[in-house]
Amino acid sequence: GSMGLPAASSGAGGMSSVSGDDQNFKVAIRVRPPVPRELHGDRPFQNVVRVDHAERRITISENLAAVEEEGYSGAPGPYSTHTFTFDHVYGQDCTQKKVYETTAKAVVESSLQGYNATIFAYGQTGTGKTYTMEGFDSRDARGIIPRAIEQIFQHITSSVSPRMRFLVRASYLQIYNENISDLLKPERTSLLIREDKRKGVYVEGLSEWVVRSPQEIYGLMERGGAMRATGSTRMNHLSSRSHAVFIIIAEQSETTYLDEDGQELSVEQFHRLVKSRAHGDDGLKRLEANVRQMFKVGKLNLVDLAGSERVRLTGATGQRLEESRKINQSLSSLGNVIAALTDPRGRQHIPYRDSKLTRILEDSLGGNCKTTMMAMISPALEAFVESLSTLKFANRAK
Ligand code: ADP
Ligand code: MG
Repeated sequence: GSMGLPAASSGAGGMSSVSGDDQNFKVAIRVRPPVPRELHGDRPFQNVVRVDHAERRITISENLAAVEEEGYSGAPGPYSTHTFTFDHVYGQDCTQKKVYETTAKAVVESSLQGYNATIFAYGQTGTGKTYTMEGFDSRDARGIIPRAIEQIFQHITSSVSPRMRFLVRASYLQIYNENISDLLKPERTSLLIREDKRKGVYVEGLSEWVVRSPQEIYGLMERGGAMRATGSTRMNHLSSRSHAVFIIIAEQSETTYLDEDGQELSVEQFHRLVKSRAHGDDGLKRLEANVRQMFKVGKLNLVDLAGSERVRLTGATGQRLEESRKINQSLSSLGNVIAALTDPRGRQHIPYRDSKLTRILEDSLGGNCKTTMMAMISPALEAFVESLSTLKFANRAK
């Protein structure tokens, strides 16, 4: 790829293809396996979701068994039944590896090319957002964050040369009640969003950790994750009521050396050439000007969103009510931003400023930024209403 690309800026222009291959905005659905609570509840487990991998189609029905028996014709029947098509659909047997390779990998690759990129995990609490993003320690169950880190370090290892320099930094923040805090420096709360020409949009005072190996990032991930979890016992399930954003910034600089005719040289060849020139020689000055440094900076945002369950506002009061309103608001403003960006008519105004989350991600959504929305659902009848609402949200995002 070409060097010296600035991280893509935001703005109108829609999310149409820039790289030429495929579209920059993708939506994937993942159905998790039933959990013990669903399998051994009061009523027998009833699966309501059918996934058609080949057609990238998903059907959800209040009475899937009946619909399948009678033959699904697409005609409205006595049961609420809906079919949607997405860029990817993953059934309950789908592995973390498969999910990573078919959705996240290209997004991470684009961040290594110097673009900003974002992956969201959306869904009701308990549907597998954290499982998909973080996963577990065991090799097979590693989620998107650890695999992304491994991909980044693999890239570094495979492109190592005296002419290349790499710097990987990570941050981990949480947005709870429109309040930003640093998950890696817990004493830092109520952080402000700033913007300047050089840095773009950034969170003031957010700690950045230089990472030299995947192991170092696992440490940060665990620390931040533990912070999120401790909060949850104190303040009603903070981890499901807050957004967590893991940010990885990969910086690369490449030095190229050219001779007077613009031919590329190795470092050794270049130094030999310099030494061969007499001091004060005009050619020497020209050679010095032929050392070029090019930078690529890509920012990858891995976002574990607050639970999307319709928070019942009736009965809720005070802080609880305020909290619920803020979650609903920030998820719907994310939906609005995505809808505006994916609008085929190419709308001019993108409402980034309506929530902290969309403001933080302003330079990582739209334009040349690759974005993937992963929506998670349960296969169980008891989750039908929420699953349908998640599928509708995801469908609107297409
Ligand atoms: P969320 O973060 O959306 O609240 P979790 O990631 O905590 O949900 O998942 C809820 C439970 O379901 C956890 O016990 C998790 O291990 C399990 N789970 C989620 N997705 C899968 C999956 N694809 N395969 C196996 N177990 C899963
Ligand atoms: Mg979670």
